[in-house]
Amino acid sequence: MSSQEKIAALLQENRLFPPPPDFAERAHVKDMSLHEWARKDRLGFWAAMAERLHWFKKWDTVLEWEPPFYKWFVGGKLNASYNCIDRHLTSWRRNKAAIIWEGEPGDERVLTYQDLHREVSKAANMLKSLGVRRGDRVTIYLPMIPELPIAMLACARIGAIHSVVFGGFSAESLAGRINDAQAKIVITADGGWRRGNVVPLKQNTDEALKSCPSVEKVIVVKRIGHESLVHHNWVEGRDLWWHTLMRNQPDTCPVEEMDAEDPLYILYTSGSTGKPKGVLHTTGGYLTGVAATTHYVFDLKDEDVYWCTADIGWVTGHSYIVYGPLAEGATTVMYEGTPDYPDRGRFWDIVQKYRVNILYTAPTAIRSFMKWGEEWPARYDLSSLRLIGTVGEPINPEAWIWYHQHIGRGKCPIVDTWWQTETGMIMITPLPGVTHTKPGSATIPFPGVSAEVVDGAGNPVGPGEGGFLVLTEPAPAMLRTVWGDPDRYVAQYYSRFGKSVYFTGDGAKKDENGYFIIVGRVDDVINVSGHRIGTWEVESALVDHPAVAEAAVIGRNHDIKGQAISAFVILKEGHQPSEAMEKELKEHVVRKIGALARPEEILFTADLPKTRSGKIMRRLLRDIAEGRALGDTTTLADPAVVQQLKEKYEATE
Ligand code: ATP
Ligand code: MG
Repeated sequence: MSSQEKIAALLQENRLFPPPPDFAERAHVKDMSLHEWARKDRLGFWAAMAERLHWFKKWDTVLEWEPPFYKWFVGGKLNASYNCIDRHLTSWRRNKAAIIWEGEPGDERVLTYQDLHREVSKAANMLKSLGVRRGDRVTIYLPMIPELPIAMLACARIGAIHSVVFGGFSAESLAGRINDAQAKIVITADGGWRRGNVVPLKQNTDEALKSCPSVEKVIVVKRIGHESLVHHNWVEGRDLWWHTLMRNQPDTCPVEEMDAEDPLYILYTSGSTGKPKGVLHTTGGYLTGVAATTHYVFDLKDEDVYWCTADIGWVTGHSYIVYGPLAEGATTVMYEGTPDYPDRGRFWDIVQKYRVNILYTAPTAIRSFMKWGEEWPARYDLSSLRLIGTVGEPINPEAWIWYHQHIGRGKCPIVDTWWQTETGMIMITPLPGVTHTKPGSATIPFPGVSAEVVDGAGNPVGPGEGGFLVLTEPAPAMLRTVWGDPDRYVAQYYSRFGKSVYFTGDGAKKDENGYFIIVGRVDDVINVSGHRIGTWEVESALVDHPAVAEAAVIGRNHDIKGQAISAFVILKEGHQPSEAMEKELKEHVVRKIGALARPEEILFTADLPKTRSGKIMRRLLRDIAEGRALGDTTTLADPAVVQQLKEKYEATE
């Protein structure tokens, strides 16, 4: 076997999981006809998807392009808030739960579509009363409480552009995003609950606003109610209580007729690879894409309880807690806190309590569940689940199988969905009633999406060969530009392979069935003595070992080999780091992939540096291994982790 073949052997994940027959029988999509239709008539397909929405005026042209700039549904008029709320009020759905919310301390709130209409209308009137107009930017820095989607939909209702900043971000990160968007209003809360502690959002906001001259008013939601969080820094004239402002607002508010290409929101990427980019999404194409994918990928039915565990501060929450599910008239669950509070069974408690049918979470969460042990989910009744999904990072086959067995109980299809903040909607994914799934593969593009794996010259590579993941046709939900920086938009996405090919930044390969396997960021591909190895491949080999909970692998400069593999490993509970363990893990990688993938060194650690969205920041690990100063750390979840690792790494040298 050549070494390339040995690498391929790791990816010889040949287990295929056909859709369970009873699932397939009832699924929205039972065969490949949707894919075929879209292949023959891509624009006709997307136009039909757009028909699923309510338009005040239909579009004149489906797509106008001047690569790399695109306009979808040109001339069409619609409103996102109307599509997510008002259009459901004329049917029985008006009394359906739109949002089922659970706070970390256990408090609950259920909003029907009728309730949501009233709250959003009042909030929209509140914003108008403060002078917010169409096109103005509103920064929303809230915990996972109902006021967050209410504020977003209120902005959409009056044509203001929201920019949601994840509540875990620091004052400095918040200030950067407010200034980039030149926001007029900030909506925040006195605080939010996180693992039993209060996150002082209002205090962070005050700190941020020292350097944000564009902000005129701050609206504060009372979530915690501790006087000490606000009283000493309340700025009269600037700071206003949400509940006071809302009290006398009329409970209806006309919707603005927006152009299909009017901006809906700005959202900053998670910063895994560098300075976050302010991704701009517009109205018609975005809503079309998220509604269609919510319907087909999650096989969503009116009677389902659907739960996406992401934070709305990330695109996953925007598209698959708020806009997609609500446009589809679904019941969407929202949870404020962490999965381990008050104990490690919290997610399963929520699934059992609300009889959740569809669960959408992330590999980082699944790896934590694996580390905590299968006894936690086993204590709960998860029989309501019929479909489970993942997004955010490549899922290691080991984690996929664990998810399938212990959460899906062997009977739920898994949708491993590849997409990005920039694509707005799911792009590569199984359709659960048709696609035979394969652990570690997001399978094939959604109908109407064209993806390819190419070499450096832009030519498609053969099966099993690594290359760059690109999108060869525009899709409606994709970003229109980087806010305020069209040059960065062109440079970042449309320069490497020309003006009409979108470069994702991810490395991938296709198997002989044409299934896509995303192997990680292009910058994360390691070159050992001329062989290209994806960090994910080595990580998957490590995670395959029964003692390993999580692993991050990087290539560091090496005089002879070009690059050498450094591995950072978290052991499962009950296992201790030792020289023998290090040796055993190295041998395990050699057995799984081959000698060329043997890690030069393994550093055991209790934690890995992650973005606040839970992704491993390999670039910081490279900085550590190569003894450089650390790059941009503003999006790190816990800066202490990387500092400790740096010290530990230096001590072992
Ligand atoms: P930045 O662009 O600022 O570095 P980011 O890329 O982490 O941050 P996101 O847009 O949140 O920001 O993440 C998108 C990326 O997440 C994808 O490009 C890919 O690397 C990874 N990803 C998402 N879903 C999957 C998946 N199902 N399989 C593999 N990788 C995935
Ligand atoms: Mg990215």
